[in-house]
Amino acid sequence: MAEVRRIFTCKCGYKLRYGAARCGDCYAPTPFYNRTYFWRAIIVLLPLAAGTMVLVAVA
Ligand SMILES: [Zn+2]
Repeated sequence: MAEVRRIFTCKCGYKLRYGAARCGDCYAPTPFYNRTYFWRAIIVLLPLAAGTMVLVAVA
């Protein structure tokens, strides 16, 4: 059985299920850093940003 990751806490104190769009207790929208796409975007954009910085430094 896969364990549900609960990394972040809602402002109401409820431990948010990772990737959930809304709090399971108060139904408030979860912070952007609780979404999977946010971390995927960082993983994709970070090397691109680093590559751009290297190009700017060389040029
Ligand atoms: Zn909540």
